[in-house]
Amino acid sequence: ARKYVVKRQFDGVPKRDDFEIVQYELPSLRNGEILVKTEWVSVDPYQRAYNRKYPTPYDQFGFLVGVVEDTKNPKYSIGTRVVTHKGWCDYSIVNPNESSTMINIVYKLPELKGLSPIHGLSSVGMVGVTAYFGLLEICQPKAGETVVVTGAAGAVGSLVGQIAKIKGCRVIGFAGSDDKVDWLQNTLGFDKAYNYKTANINETLKIAAPNGVDCYFDNVGGEISSIIMSHMNHFGRVSVCGSISAYNDDVSQLPRVPLLQFDITMKQLKVEGFLVHRWLTRWSEAFVDLTKWLLEGKLKTNEHITEGFDKIYDAFIGMLAGENTGKAVVKI
Ligand code: NDP
Repeated sequence: ARKYVVKRQFDGVPKRDDFEIVQYELPSLRNGEILVKTEWVSVDPYQRAYNRKYPTPYDQFGFLVGVVEDTKNPKYSIGTRVVTHKGWCDYSIVNPNESSTMINIVYKLPELKGLSPIHGLSSVGMVGVTAYFGLLEICQPKAGETVVVTGAAGAVGSLVGQIAKIKGCRVIGFAGSDDKVDWLQNTLGFDKAYNYKTANINETLKIAAPNGVDCYFDNVGGEISSIIMSHMNHFGRVSVCGSISAYNDDVSQLPRVPLLQFDITMKQLKVEGFLVHRWLTRWSEAFVDLTKWLLEGKLKTNEHITEGFDKIYDAFIGMLAGENTGKAVVKI
């Protein structure tokens, strides 16, 4: 089998040489285990962000969709399609009986007409659950409220905006290109979308959200988030999902963004960060709604597909640089 190993801590944008593709012999299966042949691999921002947390070298973790090729688990027959967190590898062995944390999660992908294997990495995967609980649990948006989302044309953001629309909200998105803006407004039905690289965020929000912002789903952090938060209404809710604008930076060297404590206090805002594994025992609950909306056509997904095991690094760097509209995945 082959797998990507991260050799060292990244310095700025991860370099190809920070990774090594290692070839190794898989052991034989023990009772309870299954052998999974990878079909699709996910590239995600947390693979950059979490690099600071892990002692190197480590096997590159991440979600994948694959098919059971051999089994010693009666509940998982050959041919079953599964989602696991085994990372950038072409074959892996997992034990579904030990699937109690996000690291060793294994679940079957429902075989439904209209659902494609690739959805296991977007709406019926970690990304879908992030959008679902991060928005609904933390922001608790109500019909008629104004919701702003950054990273809006990405995997999480594009679902957040659509879920907010399903809940009857007015949705404003910020993304990094005019094509993305066009997709958000004309395909996904966002009420307004803007290119944050060319728009004046403050002036834009005065026009797009004249009555203020009730919910902000923050995927990017940094200055844009401070500006958006200064437009929040009293009792507004901010779901702090990620801060990709700083993942390639040396955080210790960054200036502290003005923290808006005054706004937070005077407007009595709720600002809450979260990690999606908080709701691990409830992921299946989210999948019921997400699958339903997907099959009803209320939720649209787009995949940015790169082909080939050797290209996973390129897909990863491309995603960090904003090449993807929707979910960035690699076909193995
Ligand atoms: P995306 O599909 O959104 O891909 C990343 C996108 O980030 C790029 O396409 C790019 O789009 C944007 N981006 C890159 N650099 C910058 C920058 N400097 N400023 C603004 N935007 C930038 O990734 P995901 O949907 O998978 O993840 C989105 C966010 O959600 C990330 O912050 C991630 O860490 C977080 N996350 C958090 C989880 C949690 O449990 N809290 C779980 C999963 C994801 P553009 O062209 O618009 O710049």
